[in-house]
Amino acid sequence: MDCIFCAIIEGRAPAEVVFEDEETLAFMDINPANPGHTLVIPKRHVRNIYDLDEQTAAAVMRATVRVAQAIKRALQPAGMNLVQSNERAGGQEIFHIHIHIIPRWYGDGLRLARPPEVRRTMPIKEAAAGIRREVARK
Ligand code: 5GP
Ligand code: ZN
Repeated sequence: MDCIFCAIIEGRAPAEVVFEDEETLAFMDINPANPGHTLVIPKRHVRNIYDLDEQTAAAVMRATVRVAQAIKRALQPAGMNLVQSNERAGGQEIFHIHIHIIPRWYGDGLRLARPPEVRRTMPIKEAAAGIRREVARK
């Protein structure tokens, strides 16, 4: 399988690594949305959130919190966003799960927020009922 993030983990492709432990790696995004934009990934190849097991999820989030706090101390952003995209429709381009840590500054012009018009193609109650049914099956 040809995965650029696996190549980074295995040292076959270069990356600006900022943190590593047994289960995770954090490195700078090659095309940063803002200074300090960092990606956190599991060393195990996982496509996206649908394939993520609990232990790997915990390891990735532990590393994300640690790196986010380090970015705050190092760069002193005014805020920070975590972004994680799944499948093409969700904007996923690299199919090895990753969490974006994106530092924010007032006036940085970055737009991650949804546009103001609220879409109601499904009533909130109906969506909630479907989710409640499925979450109980886990
Ligand atoms: P996605 O849209 O899948 O959530 O984000 C993929 C991210 O990976 C993008 O922000 C992109 O800039 C970054 N990226 C893609 N290829 C490479 C690479 O080879 N090295 C690094 N460091 N980042 C990459
Ligand atoms: Zn991979």
